[in-house]
Amino acid sequence: MDKVRIQIGKVWIECECESVKESMAKITEYSTVYGQKACGMCGSENIYPEHRTDAEGNNYYSMRCGDCPAQFSFGQTKAGGVLFPRREDPNGNKIPNNGWYDWRERVASKERYDTSLQQPPQQQQPEQRQYEQPPRESTPF
Ligand SMILES: [Zn+2]
Repeated sequence: MDKVRIQIGKVWIECECESVKESMAKITEYSTVYGQKACGMCGSENIYPEHRTDAEGNNYYSMRCGDCPAQFSFGQTKAGGVLFPRREDPNGNKIPNNGWYDWRERVASKERYDTSLQQPPQQQQPEQRQYEQPPRESTPF
Protein backbone atom coordinates (compact mmCIF):
# COMPACT_ATOMS: atom_id res chain seq x y z
CA MET A 1 0.00 0.00 0.00
CA ASP A 2 1.48 3.31 -1.10
CA LYS A 3 0.62 6.69 0.30
CA VAL A 4 0.33 9.57 -2.14
CA ARG A 5 0.05 13.18 -1.01
CA ILE A 6 -0.55 15.95 -3.51
CA GLN A 7 -1.86 19.51 -3.47
CA ILE A 8 -4.65 20.20 -5.94
CA GLY A 9 -5.80 23.79 -5.96
CA LYS A 10 -6.53 24.84 -2.38
CA VAL A 11 -6.67 21.38 -0.86
CA TRP A 12 -4.21 18.63 -0.01
CA ILE A 13 -5.22 15.15 -1.03
CA GLU A 14 -3.75 12.13 0.71
CA CYS A 15 -4.73 8.69 -0.49
CA GLU A 16 -3.62 5.14 0.01
CA CYS A 17 -3.34 3.29 -3.25
CA GLU A 18 -2.60 -0.26 -4.34
CA SER A 19 -0.95 0.87 -7.54
CA VAL A 20 0.14 3.85 -9.59
CA LYS A 21 -2.92 3.31 -11.80
CA GLU A 22 -5.23 3.52 -8.81
CA SER A 23 -3.50 6.69 -7.59
CA MET A 24 -3.84 8.26 -11.04
CA ALA A 25 -7.55 7.47 -11.15
CA LYS A 26 -8.09 9.01 -7.73
CA ILE A 27 -5.93 12.06 -8.38
CA THR A 28 -7.65 12.63 -11.72
CA GLU A 29 -11.07 12.67 -10.08
CA TYR A 30 -9.89 15.00 -7.32
CA SER A 31 -8.29 17.26 -9.93
CA THR A 32 -11.54 17.38 -11.88
CA VAL A 33 -13.17 19.04 -8.89
CA TYR A 34 -10.48 20.82 -6.91
CA GLY A 35 -8.39 21.73 -9.94
CA GLN A 36 -11.03 24.34 -10.79
CA LYS A 37 -9.10 27.53 -10.08
CA ALA A 38 -11.52 30.35 -10.79
CA CYS A 39 -15.07 31.16 -11.79
CA GLY A 40 -15.50 30.98 -15.55
CA MET A 41 -17.87 33.94 -15.58
CA CYS A 42 -16.32 36.58 -13.30
CA GLY A 43 -12.82 35.20 -12.75
CA SER A 44 -13.12 35.16 -8.96
CA GLU A 45 -11.07 32.57 -7.09
CA ASN A 46 -13.75 32.55 -4.38
CA ILE A 47 -15.23 29.25 -5.54
CA TYR A 48 -16.33 26.34 -3.41
CA PRO A 49 -17.77 22.85 -3.85
CA GLU A 50 -21.45 22.26 -3.27
CA HIS A 51 -23.31 19.02 -2.71
CA ARG A 52 -27.09 18.79 -2.67
CA THR A 53 -29.47 15.92 -2.11
CA ASP A 54 -33.05 16.09 -3.32
CA ALA A 55 -36.13 14.60 -1.66
CA GLU A 56 -35.66 11.35 -3.59
CA GLY A 57 -32.09 10.95 -2.39
CA ASN A 58 -30.41 11.90 -5.67
CA ASN A 59 -27.08 13.64 -5.25
CA TYR A 60 -25.87 16.70 -7.15
CA TYR A 61 -22.33 17.99 -7.22
CA SER A 62 -21.14 21.35 -8.44
CA MET A 63 -18.74 24.21 -7.90
CA ARG A 64 -20.24 27.56 -7.03
CA CYS A 65 -18.88 31.08 -7.21
CA GLY A 66 -19.08 33.17 -4.05
CA ASP A 67 -19.03 36.45 -5.98
CA CYS A 68 -21.57 35.87 -8.75
CA PRO A 69 -24.42 33.43 -9.50
CA ALA A 70 -22.21 31.10 -11.54
CA GLN A 71 -22.26 27.34 -11.14
CA PHE A 72 -20.28 24.52 -12.70
CA SER A 73 -21.97 21.12 -12.70
CA PHE A 74 -20.44 17.68 -12.49
CA GLY A 75 -22.02 14.58 -13.92
CA GLN A 76 -21.57 11.10 -12.49
CA THR A 77 -20.54 8.07 -14.45
CA LYS A 78 -22.83 5.08 -14.24
CA ALA A 79 -19.89 2.82 -13.51
CA GLY A 80 -18.38 3.82 -10.21
CA GLY A 81 -20.16 7.16 -9.87
CA VAL A 82 -17.02 9.07 -10.82
CA LEU A 83 -17.51 12.82 -11.21
CA PHE A 84 -16.81 14.36 -14.59
CA PRO A 85 -17.07 18.00 -15.70
CA ARG A 86 -20.10 19.00 -17.74
CA ARG A 87 -18.91 21.37 -20.41
CA GLU A 88 -21.68 20.69 -22.92
CA ASP A 89 -25.42 21.21 -22.76
CA PRO A 90 -27.90 18.36 -23.39
CA ASN A 91 -27.72 19.06 -27.14
CA GLY A 92 -23.96 18.64 -27.23
CA ASN A 93 -23.27 22.36 -27.56
CA LYS A 94 -20.37 23.80 -25.63
CA ILE A 95 -21.49 25.76 -22.58
CA PRO A 96 -19.94 29.26 -22.75
CA ASN A 97 -17.50 30.30 -20.02
CA ASN A 98 -15.85 26.87 -20.03
CA GLY A 99 -18.87 25.21 -18.45
CA TRP A 100 -19.77 27.89 -15.89
CA TYR A 101 -23.27 29.25 -16.16
CA ASP A 102 -25.72 31.46 -14.28
CA TRP A 103 -27.96 28.97 -12.48
CA ARG A 104 -30.79 31.55 -12.30
CA GLU A 105 -30.98 31.78 -16.11
CA ARG A 106 -31.05 28.00 -16.43
CA VAL A 107 -33.84 27.68 -13.88
CA ALA A 108 -35.82 30.50 -15.52
CA SER A 109 -35.48 29.04 -19.03
CA LYS A 110 -35.98 25.46 -17.83
CA GLU A 111 -32.92 24.71 -19.93
CA ARG A 112 -31.09 22.86 -17.23
CA TYR A 113 -27.62 21.66 -18.01
CA ASP A 114 -27.64 18.92 -15.45
CA THR A 115 -30.86 17.26 -16.64
CA SER A 116 -29.20 15.59 -19.57
CA LEU A 117 -28.14 12.06 -20.29
CA GLN A 118 -25.00 13.53 -21.75
CA GLN A 119 -22.18 11.14 -22.52
CA PRO A 120 -19.11 11.76 -20.42
CA PRO A 121 -15.73 11.65 -22.15
CA GLN A 122 -15.14 7.95 -21.41
CA GLN A 123 -18.38 6.93 -23.18
CA GLN A 124 -20.03 6.00 -19.90
CA GLN A 125 -23.57 6.97 -19.03
CA PRO A 126 -24.15 9.40 -16.19
CA GLU A 127 -25.66 7.70 -13.18
CA GLN A 128 -29.06 9.28 -13.38
CA ARG A 129 -31.10 12.12 -14.76
CA GLN A 130 -30.52 15.23 -12.77
CA TYR A 131 -32.28 18.50 -12.43
CA GLU A 132 -31.48 21.87 -11.05
CA GLN A 133 -32.66 23.05 -7.68
CA PRO A 134 -32.43 26.55 -6.39
CA PRO A 135 -29.33 26.38 -4.23
CA ARG A 136 -29.51 26.72 -0.52
CA GLU A 137 -27.25 29.10 1.30
CA SER A 138 -23.72 27.79 1.36
CA THR A 139 -20.67 28.74 3.30
CA PRO A 140 -17.54 29.24 1.23
CA PHE A 141 -14.64 27.26 2.61
ZN1 LIG B 1 -18.13 34.27 -10.47
